[in-house]
Amino acid sequence: MAGDQELTCSDCGQSFTFSAEDQAFFNERGYSTPKRCKQCRQAKKQEQPGGGYQHSESRSASVICAGCGQQTTVPFEPRGDRPVYCQNCFQSRKKTHAGGGGRRSFGDRRSFGRGR
Ligand SMILES: [Zn+2]
Ligand SMILES: [Zn+2]
Repeated sequence: MAGDQELTCSDCGQSFTFSAEDQAFFNERGYSTPKRCKQCRQAKKQEQPGGGYQHSESRSASVICAGCGQQTTVPFEPRGDRPVYCQNCFQSRKKTHAGGGGRRSFGDRRSFGRGR
């Protein structure tokens, strides 16, 4: 195996080590020698629209259902401030909720639950 290589990051200008291990890894995948250090590469990745964070609409997240405690996947990112339910629990909650009939005038969401 070849030794480590010292490269200069084209982003932050700092030198970084392209380790023999990484070289092998890059070679295997047919990547060319990196121009940026790991940190900058990671930063770049996170910025990229579509690369994961802000833009993808079809993201899903694994969560624990607040109803039955099972792991489930939801097609949105849970905010953390409200419980997340699996399909089943969500449906059955909806049913109970709507089943009452005729009491929906109570608490039109705005006048209700401010801080929550
Ligand atoms: Zn860098
Ligand atoms: Zn559930």
